[in-house]
Amino acid sequence: MKNSDIAFLVYQPERARRKNNSFDGNDNVGAKVIIDVLSKNGVSVDFCSVASAHKYKLVLLSLTSTYDCIAFYKAVALRQDWSPAKRKFIVIGGGFGMQNPTVLRKHIDYAVFGRGEDIIYPLVSAVLGGSNSYEHESVMHLPDIYSVKIQQAKRLYDSDVFKEGFVGCGNMCKFCHYSWVRKRMHNANYGENGKIGETYVQGTLTNNNSPEMLFKDIPKITKKYGRIRTALDGFSERLRFTYGKKITDKEIKANVEYLGEFEKTTVLIIYNIGNMPSETQDDRDSLYGTLCDVKPKNRVIAIIHTTPFRASLATPLQYAEVQLNPSMSDLRFKTIVDTPTFLSKHSMSNESNFSQLQTTIIERATEGTDALFHTMCFSSKIKNNIAAKKIRLLSNNFDLKPYLRRYHPDEEKHPGWFLNTYIQTKTLGKIFLKT
Ligand code: SF4
Repeated sequence: MKNSDIAFLVYQPERARRKNNSFDGNDNVGAKVIIDVLSKNGVSVDFCSVASAHKYKLVLLSLTSTYDCIAFYKAVALRQDWSPAKRKFIVIGGGFGMQNPTVLRKHIDYAVFGRGEDIIYPLVSAVLGGSNSYEHESVMHLPDIYSVKIQQAKRLYDSDVFKEGFVGCGNMCKFCHYSWVRKRMHNANYGENGKIGETYVQGTLTNNNSPEMLFKDIPKITKKYGRIRTALDGFSERLRFTYGKKITDKEIKANVEYLGEFEKTTVLIIYNIGNMPSETQDDRDSLYGTLCDVKPKNRVIAIIHTTPFRASLATPLQYAEVQLNPSMSDLRFKTIVDTPTFLSKHSMSNESNFSQLQTTIIERATEGTDALFHTMCFSSKIKNNIAAKKIRLLSNNFDLKPYLRRYHPDEEKHPGWFLNTYIQTKTLGKIFLKT
């Protein structure tokens, strides 16, 4: 049953996050906000699949991460009704995964960068009214690629579907896309960082069952949690101090032992970043040595989930070299320390270096990337091989250097030259050169 001229596209994600991959199964806050804004303006929104999209005049696309660029392309690129020549509907795309739309430019008409709640209604109205010339500093009319500015929140979102406590982060780690593209703003009731007791806790996305907090704030916890999520973002003290997470080895020992003061087992999920620029085996060994020295009173289980480094656009490290080796997937499930009160293991879902390469290619894509991207998505040889072989197959046929090399901020064109954030690009370059 069709109620509207507009539908949100539901497509299979590249990585299943839950058994139910519908919008109900995944809490896609961004999509819910956009639907809420349109509904408050009297515009109802249906849901569609790639097969039923042609029944609508306008299709909305949510890209929650760079992986969604792969999932969306795989879903539509071989379909006649989505081909640039035959497609009869307009596609508007946005979301946190909208960093570089180059590889999707033939399948999306308007790319919205940053917060879309003040843009979506005027844009939808213009498109449905037949206008082909909507202009906004945060909207790119594809397939042309030109300079845009990431839209910032003018206020925190406050509605029945989503009450926002804060946006952005004051720490500004040099690799963190989130903090460099989302200017800090917080709700007075949330305290400076959002709080339960006296510490920063972001629990809203997990019903407060598994609070997420800064590592340095662990000693502020006053009640027992079964599971806590936090981040180190660097194997060694040297790396953490160079790129932004100023956590000492001494603090790692002290904070894990502090959690061991609470009775029964506490599980700590520690997000980490591997293959940081200049990282060596000495850096990795430094974390293992520190963890071997931790002696909690009650049992603590620390799972280290290491994501490989990405040179994320609109951050100071967008210019950095990307190292693919070693693959963080090789660490999966390896035990670091196992004593009666402390178990630390690497996560079983660490991404491979092929996944790291895929997202790097998308984020650093130029118009010359189309053939490489298509091969990466559809080649059966690529699909059916292990990560190292996949990388070799791609590098045998394509020059991967533009995606992996270090860029100098003064070079004429960085691949993400078109993306401007609330901090001047030349400032990002200066911070990078001083790092
Ligand atoms: S990595 Fe975490 S602490 Fe650092 S700026 Fe980003 S959100 Fe903040």
